[in-house]
Amino acid sequence: MVDIKWEELGFTYMKTPKRYVSYWENGKWDDGVLTGENKLSISEASCGLHYGQQCFEGLKAYRTKDGSIQLFRPDMNAIRMQKTNQRVMMPEVSVEKFVDACMQVVKANEEYVPPYGTGATLYLRPFMVGIGDNLGVRPAPKFIFSVFAVPVGAYFKGGLSPVNFMTSEYDRAAPNGTGMAKVGGNYAGSLLPHHEAVEAGFADCIYLDPKTHTMIEEVGAANFFGITKDNKFVTPKSDSILPSITKYSLIQVAKDYLNMEVEERDVPIDNLDEFAEAGACGTAAVITPIGGIKHKDKYTVFFDENEVGPVTRKLYDTLVGIQLGDVEAPEGWIYKVK
Ligand SMILES: *Cc1c(COP(=O)(O)O)cnc(C)c1O
Repeated sequence: MVDIKWEELGFTYMKTPKRYVSYWENGKWDDGVLTGENKLSISEASCGLHYGQQCFEGLKAYRTKDGSIQLFRPDMNAIRMQKTNQRVMMPEVSVEKFVDACMQVVKANEEYVPPYGTGATLYLRPFMVGIGDNLGVRPAPKFIFSVFAVPVGAYFKGGLSPVNFMTSEYDRAAPNGTGMAKVGGNYAGSLLPHHEAVEAGFADCIYLDPKTHTMIEEVGAANFFGITKDNKFVTPKSDSILPSITKYSLIQVAKDYLNMEVEERDVPIDNLDEFAEAGACGTAAVITPIGGIKHKDKYTVFFDENEVGPVTRKLYDTLVGIQLGDVEAPEGWIYKVK
């Protein structure tokens, strides 16, 4: 067994023994291999370096109570990456190849899948980069598809705890830009707004819709949801939001496990008073409860530190229960690693 203090893990890179690498050239992918080498050797003129032709995904492998290992909806990540690929003109990886690559990487790094009950998981980072010699702006002649794995800690050491956000004057995406694609370029543009929010004493910023700056779009690199005072699960609908698999899973959990009504619609920043609870969701943190939101001169408070809304708590417990195999999952959500 590897010597890792699972309870103390954060979200930081660690080299694990094996990763999967496959190359695309002349219209097709090769079979892909597992390798111990964690460095890529690519042309200085790679499209991925100059013109941002690259993308990534993020998902987790979970250790269950009986010691087995499972993935949560990897097919959804595969399909989302295909949509990203189409938007930035990269070759698609089939769902089968994507899921197989994830399975191979988990199995090859099995000792690094944290034990059940530690709150830690094995984070998988599939990514694709345009490589090869190229100077003009055009799709790359070759591509790398790779998946590596890193054990990561529970996001909240002492359980769920709410954090505060402020709205940003910057946009993370343009109205008809690449907001719905998981490309690195969206993140480069978010570094400064994030930094400024942290400097101002907040955990991160909330992005408003780029057209009118009146509706909530995303919370940092996570999707937003609110629970209305009459117990509806509400989440923004927009073409410039990254479609979070956690969010769409929570929508189903809210409907089918908690019997809640769900609305995907505009969420005006000036109407936060309609919510009793609010949160941000994504693979890394699952759910981040929102304590308060500052917008211009108004500060809306939902919860103080160490206080979590009852619905947020139920959503969290049910989803994590499903991911860890403690709660029965909807059909097709769990992929056992064998
Ligand atoms: C990846 C990502 C999310 C969360 O998506 P999940 O599939 O739930 O992990 C949300 N917003 C942005 C901008 C993202 O890149």
